[in-house]
Amino acid sequence: MTSGARPPEPIPPGATLGVFGGGQLGRMLALAAARLGYRTHVFCPERDSPAAEVAAAATVADYGDECALDRFAAAVDVVTLEFENVPLAALERAAAEVPVRPGARVLAAAQDRLAEKGLMARLGVATTGWEAVRGPDDVERARARLGGDCILKTTRLGYDGKGQVPVDAAADAPAAWRALGAEVGLLEARVDFACEISVLVARGAGGAVAVYEAAENRHSEGILDTTLVPARIDGATARAARAAALRIVRALDAVGLIAVEMFVARDGRVLVNEIAPRPHNSGHWTLDACATSQFEQAVRAVCGLPLGSTARLADAEMQNLLGARIDDWRRWLADPAAKLHVYGKTEARPGRKMGHVTRLRLPER
Ligand code: AMP
Repeated sequence: MTSGARPPEPIPPGATLGVFGGGQLGRMLALAAARLGYRTHVFCPERDSPAAEVAAAATVADYGDECALDRFAAAVDVVTLEFENVPLAALERAAAEVPVRPGARVLAAAQDRLAEKGLMARLGVATTGWEAVRGPDDVERARARLGGDCILKTTRLGYDGKGQVPVDAAADAPAAWRALGAEVGLLEARVDFACEISVLVARGAGGAVAVYEAAENRHSEGILDTTLVPARIDGATARAARAAALRIVRALDAVGLIAVEMFVARDGRVLVNEIAPRPHNSGHWTLDACATSQFEQAVRAVCGLPLGSTARLADAEMQNLLGARIDDWRRWLADPAAKLHVYGKTEARPGRKMGHVTRLRLPER
């Protein structure tokens, strides 16, 4: 823990936490908030969202609905988000009325891959090689400079591997550009990584920080499949990852919970891939394996409470349950080392995050 400026007055239990976004992250945030005595008011465009199902109140409206935004802001004591593609204008409108944490500056950096990469470059935080591209000729030139095996990405609204087109040495650049379907993109050198990791940092309004140990993430088709703790990385890599995450969060003056996803390259370098200004799928293991879960920590940071211990209590492996894999719930409930989380979504579409299970290595008795 470190301390900074004097923190503002805490927003006490009994107050209402506003959350932009209604997905499973909002649901688990609302559950953690309820345990600390807060009410949660969810704002999202979808009816019957997983978060609204467990929240005290919900506004179902478009993020551009100014009247709904004003009513929401007037009804809550602080606002946070569980989804980074909330339009900045919605955040700014709410911020005129109540504290919004993390704020628009953090969200702006996380929403746009070019802004994110530019920030890393300014901070001296290593990333893979990248170039902004505005057409197929740019793709050709950037591929030649970056060394052949690349990934073309949209700058905005990309997540879980969406908005990505592989561009290897033999790829047809005009076809790749058409497949991207955007006016501006980013060509990134493909990292030959030993593993992927993420570091979660909570930061309070007074500058106190709490950092979780790096977790190792395995993806399948661009979507997180499994998170392992402890990560199979050495101490120097863990320290480099922690230092990079802290530098980013402090530079952004972020308040709340920030996840930083990274590659550990085969040559040992830690390269930041992206940041998310919210609880993160790769932090779900903290629910069952840590003294303070990422969700409780987010509530603490956003409400100006003391941050909780990030101590890990057991080795753990978190597995996402996508689509029909949720039908295995009986198996997980029968396993004494498994903790099952079901998000309450009715339709188990392929690839949809329906729940997760964390298996703990429990001490022998
Ligand atoms: P993203 O949407 O950027 O988080 O990418 C989703 C996943 O695609 C990452 O977690 C990686 O598994 C893979 N990926 C993305 N960018 C790269 C890259 N430059 N090199 C290698 N793998 C990547």
